[in-house]
Amino acid sequence: MDTLLRIAIQKSGRLSEQSMQIIKACGIRFGSDSRLLKERAENFPIEFLYLRDDDIPRYVLDSVADIGIVGRNEFDEQGLDVAVIRDLGFSKCRLSIAVPLGFPYNGLASLEGKRIATSYPNILKSKLSDSGVHAKVLELSGSVEIAPSIGVADLICDLVSTGATLASNGLREVEAIYHSTAVMVTRHELEREKVEILDRLLMRIDAVMKADDYKYIMFNLPKEHINQVASIVGGMKSPTVTPLLDQQWCAVQTVVHEARFWDVLEQLKALGAQGILVTAIEKMAD
Ligand code: ATP
Ligand code: ZN
Repeated sequence: MDTLLRIAIQKSGRLSEQSMQIIKACGIRFGSDSRLLKERAENFPIEFLYLRDDDIPRYVLDSVADIGIVGRNEFDEQGLDVAVIRDLGFSKCRLSIAVPLGFPYNGLASLEGKRIATSYPNILKSKLSDSGVHAKVLELSGSVEIAPSIGVADLICDLVSTGATLASNGLREVEAIYHSTAVMVTRHELEREKVEILDRLLMRIDAVMKADDYKYIMFNLPKEHINQVASIVGGMKSPTVTPLLDQQWCAVQTVVHEARFWDVLEQLKALGAQGILVTAIEKMAD
């Protein structure tokens, strides 16, 4: 039987859609029918297991799955010996201390002797102990934000992305103690045939992620400025330059990192670039 790489992704929740989307962007076709527990891709030796996110690190460690996509928060909380192979960047959130509106907060020292409700006791305890604060940590598996109003805790430590849920429960976010994004994990001793499949998958994932970070730009430029432009824009090797009928001008095509994009655009305009076109890149491989 053919070797398949088993990938565990969240069945339904905040990680599901983007986990499937990144795999689809790699050209891998599958039904993504989340009613199933297990599904094989049509055109790549990979099999999906749809699971609760909490179970993913354990299943990877126990070889039920070979790789998994999970929030870094879940991975760090469980502290299991699986390896993070990629930070996928999506499902960004933070683990924050949030207090009732009247609570006077002046840094973590204000938490001394308090009762804190959280679903992430290990991450919280390690932060408190680093700061020398002694507090009572109460583990709740869900609905943490209602704990202060029903009197079981003085404050909470919970995942936040926008803060809207906190506000609607009369809580104020005062300090982020931890930041998380989705990561891909695997176990340390993966079999050789599976490593080969994983490497093929990672090559595709890297190309998709890299493409997201860059823009493709094209513009016309007075020829006399081409050397200055080459040193500004770079490109994968160097920019592609084509002659125009008007011999004073040339056309330039190159890629620019998102982080430098506006800066580069201003410099190009200052050098007389015209007709600047910018497009997204779908995939990019070295
Ligand atoms: P499951 O049923 O699979 O156990 P869940 O309720 O534990 O689901 P979700 O709420 O879907 O989990 O969150 C999954 C992950 O999404 C979190 O562990 C975290 O990494 C990330 N996340 C991003 N933004 C938020 C947010 N605002 N609140 C909670 N988690 C978030
Ligand atoms: Zn969960």
